[in-house]
Amino acid sequence: MTETIEAPAALRQINHWIGGRAAAGMSGRKGPVFNPATGRQTSEVDFATPEEVDAAVQAAKVAFGTWRGVSLAKRAEIFFRVRELVHERREEAARILTSEHGKVLSDALGEVTRGLEVVEFCCGLPTLLKSEYSEQASTGIDVYSIRQPLGVVAGITPFNFPAMVPMWMWAPAIACGNTFVLKPSEKDPSASIWTAELLKEAGLPDGVFNVVNGDKVAVDSVLEHPDVAAVSFVGSTPIARYVYEKATAQGKRCQALGGAKNHMIVLPDADIDMAADAAVSAAYGSAGERCMAVSMLVAVGSVADPLIDAIKQRIPNVKVGDGMNPANEMGPLITREHRDKVASYLEDGKVVVDGRESCPDEGFFLGPSLIDDLKPGMRAYDDEIFGPVLGVTRVDTYDDAVRLVNESPYGNGTAIFTRDGGAARQFQFEAQAGMVGVNVPIPVPVAYYSFGGWKGSLFGDRHIYGPEGIDFYTRGKVVTSRWPDPATSKVDLGFPQTR
Ligand code: NAD
Repeated sequence: MTETIEAPAALRQINHWIGGRAAAGMSGRKGPVFNPATGRQTSEVDFATPEEVDAAVQAAKVAFGTWRGVSLAKRAEIFFRVRELVHERREEAARILTSEHGKVLSDALGEVTRGLEVVEFCCGLPTLLKSEYSEQASTGIDVYSIRQPLGVVAGITPFNFPAMVPMWMWAPAIACGNTFVLKPSEKDPSASIWTAELLKEAGLPDGVFNVVNGDKVAVDSVLEHPDVAAVSFVGSTPIARYVYEKATAQGKRCQALGGAKNHMIVLPDADIDMAADAAVSAAYGSAGERCMAVSMLVAVGSVADPLIDAIKQRIPNVKVGDGMNPANEMGPLITREHRDKVASYLEDGKVVVDGRESCPDEGFFLGPSLIDDLKPGMRAYDDEIFGPVLGVTRVDTYDDAVRLVNESPYGNGTAIFTRDGGAARQFQFEAQAGMVGVNVPIPVPVAYYSFGGWKGSLFGDRHIYGPEGIDFYTRGKVVTSRWPDPATSKVDLGFPQTR
């Protein structure tokens, strides 16, 4: 639990990306970027001023003038090229993610692949943007709907998926004809600049995709900018609420996805080994830094003791270490501060496995941890821990378990493990969460559905990517048209009739 934080002599500089080229920050304010596996600082990233955010928005505004007029066929062609380039370079992207986030290479590759699915969905943009047409809605009158882009839209993203979550936003936004300003996490910003260079190479016109790095100053400048029409946010619940309130108060469309505390219910009839495998995978994958991680296991009735034993047996086999080593399965946490905060939860309940006892000395590591006997009202039960700490709460009945899920202030994902189809069907019907898994611990929807939670896990009414993503980044217009013979024209002050 010690780490080295001495900085190397020459730090890599990470700039903004404005109007199709790298733009060095002018503020002099910068943030450190670490390799969490070694604890050493590798880079520093520029923090944007309001003027730099304005420059990015202006570049996007100019580009919107032409991009919205680019044919659907041409846009699709560019998207196919993007798809090919990301696919070809996915291992390069994965190494960037691992070096700044810490997740193991195989997981980083999985992130790129799931993000790429959203790009692939967007390759079908001509079909996605098709609308409706009613011929002869009234005599000689046709009515049709069209969906048009909003203009300059912005994305503000968290540290835990530095490639995939931005893809959830920029791909549908740009496919729909908008231009985009991304404010990525300041903790692992390199993937965004990698994306910007790749999009340029794929033929995306300059100014359509821009990156401003930074902190709250950059976020507030985006939220207050009069030329930003819509904001997509993914991050923690307090900031999601803040972003949603501030953006909508400025008249912007906003979808703000927040944090999570995902409960996995295990019924007494479940296959214990399968449930234990799923719990270990979903709790400790990416060191628990996933908004869809399983963080609370709800053990119903007699299942608790054998399930905890099965999980306990599996934990020593999880290989913890530098994500660059393909033998490792779980990497470090994002920062030393976050690691220490996560470790501070190993006080509540009954600590069955303490990850502080089994992790590498260098870097921001914490081993997989397991706490039994958690209950609402305890910090480790109530808070989103966002680390490799799996809590267990024991309940007597299915109804008690569902009550816990539904009383949670979060409603991102939840799962049930059972062999009883009727119980699973009932759970799907009554669980108050946006994404439900039946014997699936991390039910992230495929790209042609939409992703999003309920309650404190989402502010706004549209989920992200998939059909709701297309809806979010466009607005509807209905055209009523007729081509009458001028000879029939007359003044008529009555309200238009359709019959
Ligand atoms: P975060 O809320 O700290 O940061 C997210 C973004 O907001 C970053 O770009 C950051 O620079 C910015 N930000 C941070 N503090 C701010 C402030 N005071 N004012 C304005 N902007 C601010 O989140 P994080 O730690 O980067 O990411 C982890 C969180 O994201 C977890 O809570 C996780 O559950 C959540 N998350 C949710 C989803 C989802 O789909 N619901 C997906 C991924 C991550």
